Amino acid sequence: MQKKTEQQRTELKDLGEFGLIHRIQQQFTPKHPESILGIGDDAAVIDTGADTYTLMSTDMLVEGIHFDLSYVPLKHLGYKAVAVNVSDIAAMNGTPKQFTVSLGLSNRFPLEAIDELYAGIKHACDNYNIDLVGGDTTSTRTGLVISITAIGEVAKDQIVYRKGCKENELICVSGDLGGAYMGLQVLEREKQVFMANPDMQPELDGKDYIVRRQLKPEARTDMIYELRELGVVPTSMIDISDGLASELMHLCSQSEVGAILYEEHLPIAKVTYDTSVEFNIDPTTSVLNGGEDYELLFTIKQEDYDKIKQNAEIIEIGYVLPKDKGVVLKTKGEQIVPITAQGWKHF
Ligand code: ADP
Ligand code: MG
Repeated sequence: MQKKTEQQRTELKDLGEFGLIHRIQQQFTPKHPESILGIGDDAAVIDTGADTYTLMSTDMLVEGIHFDLSYVPLKHLGYKAVAVNVSDIAAMNGTPKQFTVSLGLSNRFPLEAIDELYAGIKHACDNYNIDLVGGDTTSTRTGLVISITAIGEVAKDQIVYRKGCKENELICVSGDLGGAYMGLQVLEREKQVFMANPDMQPELDGKDYIVRRQLKPEARTDMIYELRELGVVPTSMIDISDGLASELMHLCSQSEVGAILYEEHLPIAKVTYDTSVEFNIDPTTSVLNGGEDYELLFTIKQEDYDKIKQNAEIIEIGYVLPKDKGVVLKTKGEQIVPITAQGWKHF
């Protein structure tokens, strides 16, 4: 009998999430001319023959990986599952229109739990003016899985990709960063305290803002509207799901540019700053690598600066450099340090 040859085995963690996606992307080139853009941006872009492009994006939330039901209310989870998809449509400068919901459920969940989840989904439908148009329901052994696919549209001359920014353009962000991450730290701490002593009440006083940033993030569709009102079309854009550093690396690598951010310009709420210090986390690390804030990171032409400078929600954090200058941070101490993307390492 012949000995079986040893099969090659490559660990997914050696590729990482981005490496894996890149590998899949290389194997699938769209064959229809209507598939304007496939894998690689916040949403796929499809030309259906109308005046607008159709946008399509999908995101999945898995219990134990993306959420912990011991502190995440199902209603908030339903809302968040829609919001994170709407955020990807917004990141293309688009307007969300329809979505489907696919659920993996175990018998651990009673009807009342599903009602709560859908109450949150309904709230998101009203808030983002988007229609639930279908889905799928299946069983799982234990955990809850929610996968949402959203469709949106954008005028052809208004579409914004991750690729497209050029040297000297301004780098902007909508709102403040790091809050969702610090909210998660607080929730995790209170869970540990509760597990050690179930009589203890959670200590969330004064942390409402960051806890809400974690549990009920908002997609910045309002910013898309605002930019339209101001007559500004960003030259590149991405939503911040994994963290500012990681998303900036995506913009820079796809646009083949470098960038400089100014530490003193990085937007952070006081409670995020104070909680970072309380947890012995450098506040700048919370802002750069925190993730899940679902703010928009975008670039604009210098000449558009006058149009945005009055808007307190648009913060200018740096500018685009030539590629050979790299992606760097100028610290408060005037040092130049390279920015490295941490992102999520799922595997
Ligand atoms: P985002 O954080 O904006 O949701 P992702 O990093 O999840 O973006 O995805 C980046 C790109 O890779 C998107 O175009 C997405 O559709 C695509 N993608 C992610 N996972 C897969 C997969 N398993 N198969 C094919 N495409 C994928
Ligand atoms: Mg995205």
